[in-house]
Amino acid sequence: MSEPAAPARAYEYIVVGSGAGGGTLAARLAEAGRSVLLLEAGGDALQLADERLPDDYQVPAFHAFASENPAMKWDFFVRHYNDEERQKRDGKYTEQRGGVLYPRAGTLGGCTAHNAMIFIYPHNADWDYIEQLTGDRSWNAADMRKYFARLENCRHRLLKRWIMKLTGWNPSRHGFGGWLTTEIAMPMEALGNRYLRKVLEESAVDASSQIGERLKRLRWFFKTRGDPNDWRLVRANSFGLRFLPLTTQGHVRVGSRERVRSVAKTFPEKLSIECDALVTRVLFNGTHRAIGVEYLKGERLYGAHANPSKDAGEKRQAYAAREVILCGGAFNTPQLLMLSGIGSAEELKQYGIEARVDLPGVGKNLQDRYEISVVYRMNENWQMLAGAKFSKGDDQYQEWDNKKREGVYTTNGGVLAVIKRSKQDKLPDLFCLGLVGKFKGYFPGYSKLIAEHHNYLSWIILKARTLNNAGRVALQSADPRQPPKIEFRYFDEGSDKQGKDLDAVVEGIQFVRAMTQDLRAQGVVAAEELPGDERRSEEQLKEFVRDNAWGHHASCTCPIGPREKGGVLSSDLRVHGTAGLRVVDASVFPRIPGYFIASAVYMIGEKAADVILADKQ
Ligand SMILES: Cc1cc2nc3c(=O)[nH]c(=O)nc-3n(C[C@H](O)[C@H](O)[C@H](O)COP(=O)(O)OP(=O)(O)OC[C@H]3O[C@@H](n4cnc5c(N)ncnc54)[C@H](O)[C@@H]3O)c2cc1C
Repeated sequence: MSEPAAPARAYEYIVVGSGAGGGTLAARLAEAGRSVLLLEAGGDALQLADERLPDDYQVPAFHAFASENPAMKWDFFVRHYNDEERQKRDGKYTEQRGGVLYPRAGTLGGCTAHNAMIFIYPHNADWDYIEQLTGDRSWNAADMRKYFARLENCRHRLLKRWIMKLTGWNPSRHGFGGWLTTEIAMPMEALGNRYLRKVLEESAVDASSQIGERLKRLRWFFKTRGDPNDWRLVRANSFGLRFLPLTTQGHVRVGSRERVRSVAKTFPEKLSIECDALVTRVLFNGTHRAIGVEYLKGERLYGAHANPSKDAGEKRQAYAAREVILCGGAFNTPQLLMLSGIGSAEELKQYGIEARVDLPGVGKNLQDRYEISVVYRMNENWQMLAGAKFSKGDDQYQEWDNKKREGVYTTNGGVLAVIKRSKQDKLPDLFCLGLVGKFKGYFPGYSKLIAEHHNYLSWIILKARTLNNAGRVALQSADPRQPPKIEFRYFDEGSDKQGKDLDAVVEGIQFVRAMTQDLRAQGVVAAEELPGDERRSEEQLKEFVRDNAWGHHASCTCPIGPREKGGVLSSDLRVHGTAGLRVVDASVFPRIPGYFIASAVYMIGEKAADVILADKQ
C-alpha cells in the first residue's frame, strides 16, 4: 500500500456514501452553502465500462438486471438462520458463499441506482414511535411530512399533470415541489388485458369485508387515484388497491445520483464528489471528536464487488472542520463504526481493534421485512411483454426509447398492489405486489427468470412492521475490504416468540390465493408453482415461508435510542460517546419503517440536513 498522499483540502462536512440517505444530505448541505466532500466507494454507473450500462440503470423494467450488473453490484451473502440444516433448506442458499444473496449497489446513488424505484410513504406510527422513544417532538409524524414534501415531485396527481400539460408550467422548476420526481407507469395494454382487469377487480375488495366497506374503499380509491402517498390515505392508515409511484422522470430512473450531480454542477465549489473512495476508518482527535476519514482510493476495492480489484488502493485522508456523517447503509455503516473502534469492546478485541467507545448496540437490532412470492404460471404469455427480451433495441426497448416513452419498459414490472391488514397487527402490515414475471427472491442469476418467461404472475407479499430484531452485522475481519458477517436470525431463531410475523405472511398467501381463485377457475392460470397446490394447510405454508422467505430492506443496525437500551444514536443522529459524528441512512431506525424503506431513508436525509444546519456549534 502506498504512503498517505499530501494533506488534502479541509471541508466543513464529509459524507460517506451517496445512497438515499447520504446523497440527499450532501446535496442539501451544499445547497445551503456548506462545503461538502461526498466520498463514494463505487463509480458512476453512467460512466462504468459495461455493455448493459447505462440501460440497466436507466430503463425502469431493467432494475433486476441493474441489481445483477457486475459493474455496479455489491453481493453480500447473508445467513437467514445460524442453524446450518435449516439454512440449507432454502433453495436460494449458495453453499460456496455460505449464505443467501443479498444484493446491494456499490455505485454513485447507492441502492437507488438499482432498486425497484417504488416510493411509498411510511406509516405515521413509524415517526411517532421515534418521538415516544426519545421525547424529541421533531420526529412526530405531522412534522415529518414536510420532509416528504421537500422530496416528492409527483407527476401523476391528475390536477398537476393537467396544469403542466395545458400551460407547460412545471412547478418543480419554479421552486415548488421536491427534487425527486415520481410517476405511475401503467401501460394501457395492461388495463385492456382481461386477465389483469380481473385481478384488479378482485383485489379491490377484501374477501372478509362487508359490502358497505368495499364500496367505501372503492370510492376512496377513485378519489385519491389509488395514490398510496395521498396524505388522506396515509393519515387514515387505509388499505386496499393502490398504484405504484416510481422514482422516474420521463420514465427514466432518478435517485440520489441525479440529485448530487445536479447540485455539484450548480455549486461546484460547495459539493465535491469523489468516487472510487472506500472509507476505511473515521479519524478522531483526543476527545473523541471526528475530524476526518481515512480512505482507499481505487476502483472495485470492496470485497463484495463482483470483480474485486487485486490492487490495494492508495491510502488517503480527508478532513472535516465540522462533521463526518456516515451513510454507507445498514451493512457498511456499522462495519465502519466498528473498524473505527466504536462497537462492543469485547467483540472488537477479537479483531485486535481497540475500543474508542464501548457501544454494544452497533450492528445489533438488524431488521428487515419478510417477503415471499406466490408464483402462478399462466396459460398464455402476457400481451404486454410481447417482444420483450430485456435488452437494448428489442421491440419493447424501442417503445420505451421513443419520445413518448411507452410500453412495459416504463414500468418496473409491477402492475398493481394491494395493502392489507393481517390479524396480527392493528395497522396495515401486508403489501401484496402483482408482478408480470417470474420472481421468487434473490439468488445469483435470478434476473434471468424475468427475461426468459413471459407467462408468469408473481404476487410478492411484503410483511411490514416485522417484530424480529435479533439480527446482527458483525465484523469477520479487521480488513476494511472484507464484508461483515450478516445474520438475520429468521423466525424461530429470532425475537418474535409468538410467531406473529410468520402467521401474517401465511395470511398474505391465503389472501393472494383467494384473489386469484377466479382466474384459476376460468383456466387462465395453468398452475400455482409456489407454494404449489400440495401445500394447503397452515403448517405446510408456515414451513414454506420459513424455507423460502427473504428481505431486501435491511435496516436498524445503528438505531436511535438511549445507550443503555442498545441505542447508538441520539435523536439528532449523533453517535453516542463521540462528537462531530452522525449516521444518516437506513441503519438509524429503531424499528423498520413503512412498506418500502427508501422514502423513509430519503426523508431522514432531508431531516438530517435541517438538524445539522440548525446546529450552532
Ligand atoms: C434489489 C433491491 C431493490 C430495492 N427496491 C426498493 C424499492 O423499490 N423501493 C424502496 O423503497 N426500497 C427498495 N430497496 C431498498 C432501498 O433502495 C435501500 O434500502 C436504500 O437505498 C438504502 O439507503 P441507504 O442510504 O441506507 O444506503 P444505500 O442506498 O445502500 O447507499 C449506501 C452507499 O454507501 C456506499 N458505501 C458503503 N460503504 C462505504 C465506504 N466504506 N466508503 C464509501 N462509500 C461507502 C455504497 O457504495 C452506497 O453507494 C431495494 C433494495 C434492493 C437491494
